[in-house]
Amino acid sequence: MTRDTLRLPAVRRAADHVLAGDEATLRTQIELSEIPAPAFQEAERGRRMGVLLAEAGLPAPVADTVGNVLTTRPGSKSVPPLVVSAHLDTVFPAGTDVTVHRDGDFLRGPGISDDARGLATLLAVARAMTGAGIATRAPVIFAATVGEEGIGDLRGVKHLFGTDGAGRGAAGFVSLDGAGLDRIVIDGLGSRRYRLEVTGPGGHSWVDWGTPNPIHALLDVGRSLTSIALPLDPVTTLTVGRIGGGTSVNAIPQSAWIEIDTRSASGESLDALEAEIRARVEAAPAAHGRLPFGLTVIGDRPGGTSDPASPNADGPPVTSRVFPSGDQTASPRNCPFQRTSVEWFSRSTRTSSVVP
Ligand SMILES: [Zn+2]
Repeated sequence: MTRDTLRLPAVRRAADHVLAGDEATLRTQIELSEIPAPAFQEAERGRRMGVLLAEAGLPAPVADTVGNVLTTRPGSKSVPPLVVSAHLDTVFPAGTDVTVHRDGDFLRGPGISDDARGLATLLAVARAMTGAGIATRAPVIFAATVGEEGIGDLRGVKHLFGTDGAGRGAAGFVSLDGAGLDRIVIDGLGSRRYRLEVTGPGGHSWVDWGTPNPIHALLDVGRSLTSIALPLDPVTTLTVGRIGGGTSVNAIPQSAWIEIDTRSASGESLDALEAEIRARVEAAPAAHGRLPFGLTVIGDRPGGTSDPASPNADGPPVTSRVFPSGDQTASPRNCPFQRTSVEWFSRSTRTSSVVP
């Protein structure tokens, strides 16, 4: 948003609406945060968002085939829309106590910032545009999306901009994620994730000693993968984040697995790293009786960047700083994820414990 835009009377009226509605926005944030929404179980929170978007004066929202809840605020021209979204899902599994505890301006609860704040902000924008009577040239699609986190692998947004998605051909996209007014992220860090599984006949640790052991094989391959020389420009990372397998300390396991996360702003770097991973996996089994290794891609989030001079990013001194390549929110160098049930949001400072 440019400084000129912020001077428009209708936009100033909308800003007044946002300030006047701050307490209602917080109540909405708490209400939505207390509706459990693990990945693939976002329907109830989605239904409530639909009701609230309609109450904000928007045309009746609909759920698309993957569960995104959408409505389009018409523009005066038949031109490509702007898409504004926040995500419905949380990283917290079913059964997590999602009660929000409020202490003055301080709210504590799983998902209170990521992304209950984004959803509440989406509604605040809708209410302000209605209240201030803002008319736009382009239609604006308001979208509460599914599957942003972890295993969701961005399925909601991928569908939104896919072949049958409502956002296909959009002129712009703004994602409201987490709390804080201090930055606009214009780069998307790419990630590709794999599951590597090894299987074998199994057996007893003494009687069958010498039978090829999937965990031994996996330890060797894992050691090989973590010794890959990774590029520093652009920064590219490889992390073995999960490991499992076996049934007993005195049994040769029948299967074992690891899950690997790779990240880079460069798709070429991720491609090169994938080729190296595949080569090392294929080279490995000989020492372990040629046990079958299965490598599966379990997540693929393409990276990308916006022009810093685009309308989405213009005018950062007004509220925010624009973060260029290498300083993405998920950058390994500056912002490790915090995923804990002590997630919090501070109304007075607009800060949170979570980097989205
Ligand atoms: Zn988020």
